[in-house]
Amino acid sequence: VSGEMAQNALSSGLTALGLNVTLVGVAPTPTVLHAASAYDADGCLTITASHNPAEWNGVEFALKRGQLMSGDDRARFQQLVESGAPSLAPWDAVGEINQRHDAIELHLARILALSSVNLTAIERRGLRIVVDSVNGAGSVISPSLLSRLGVETIPLYCEPTGRFPRSPEPSDESLAALKETVLRENADLGFAHDADADRLVFVNERGEFVPEEYTFAFVADVLLKRDKRPLITTVVTGALLDDVAAKHGVKVVRTPVGVGYVVEKMRELGASVGGESTGGVVIPGTHLTTDGIAAIAVIVSGLASFEGTMSEWVGRWNEYHLLRTKLPLASRDQIDAALEHAATMYPDAVVERMDGVKIVLNDGWIVVRPSGTEPVLRVFAESVSRERAELLLTRTRDAMKQFVGA
Ligand code: MG
Repeated sequence: VSGEMAQNALSSGLTALGLNVTLVGVAPTPTVLHAASAYDADGCLTITASHNPAEWNGVEFALKRGQLMSGDDRARFQQLVESGAPSLAPWDAVGEINQRHDAIELHLARILALSSVNLTAIERRGLRIVVDSVNGAGSVISPSLLSRLGVETIPLYCEPTGRFPRSPEPSDESLAALKETVLRENADLGFAHDADADRLVFVNERGEFVPEEYTFAFVADVLLKRDKRPLITTVVTGALLDDVAAKHGVKVVRTPVGVGYVVEKMRELGASVGGESTGGVVIPGTHLTTDGIAAIAVIVSGLASFEGTMSEWVGRWNEYHLLRTKLPLASRDQIDAALEHAATMYPDAVVERMDGVKIVLNDGWIVVRPSGTEPVLRVFAESVSRERAELLLTRTRDAMKQFVGA
């Protein structure tokens, strides 16, 4: 709702510097980044708070042709911001603002051209799918993509008003309407986006929420059949992805948390697929960023070729319990002490320090790291046993409380 206000302010600031601005209208973050590439832009700003509550808004910055920033790029950007305001253009050299209306169409065309999209198989299968876009930026493109794939499409919350009828973070708790609609409509599955549609999660044909990690796992299971290059993910993605990669004989490479790190490593190594544990997947052949729309196309193609239902596909894999919690950080002073303490809690564990502290045990793992976006300390724990995962999580969280001043 506050997007137009922010867009006007940003456009004024950018043109005052002598830069020309092209507006693409309401569109998903991956669509905007893809447009920056298609238009050969010198930079890209996306106004979004992603999955955060409606009262928040923000700006995501990207480089030339919409390339996401690496760790070094972000450090340089921070220096630039701190070095003070840049100089304004003289009155006769201010920039121009123009509008284009083809960003969604260009992105759709790119997705439909992916080699992993199998229109013949989708048509033969005759799928019926519900899509919940939380009245956010995916409201137009995702139902349109499903229709063009030949899927019978049932849109839910696909009015792009920015008035969110559920939490913009798609989760087991926030998707009651989607679960009901899948059951009522006798659909094969239901998809849900966050507000800027870079994330995708799904509900199976029984109306059950499938944990976020399965989005990445499903996409990887489709793409790795034909592509044996490494799979790139972060330190907080669970063993499900290792199992998928092992099935296809593909190596897994992990990075710090953040899609910028994932994409940087994908560029460096040449990867088959990348992604995070939150339902964000990076599919080579589209723009290198998490893309919940491209993920729809790959998952629908994969399901059409699979001899079974969504719940049968999920049931093929080992079940892991990846739990997360967060502690408010009253100050950042004690973060190092907290991480050092966490590293000593399990003397027999292997400790990795790529991002915060990762404690690898025989029967699971724990990660403690300060969030990059909120003043919180995050704790993750995974095990094949739910009780064990809960014990690891609560024990670590309780030990961290003395450091964070909560
Ligand atoms: Mg998002």
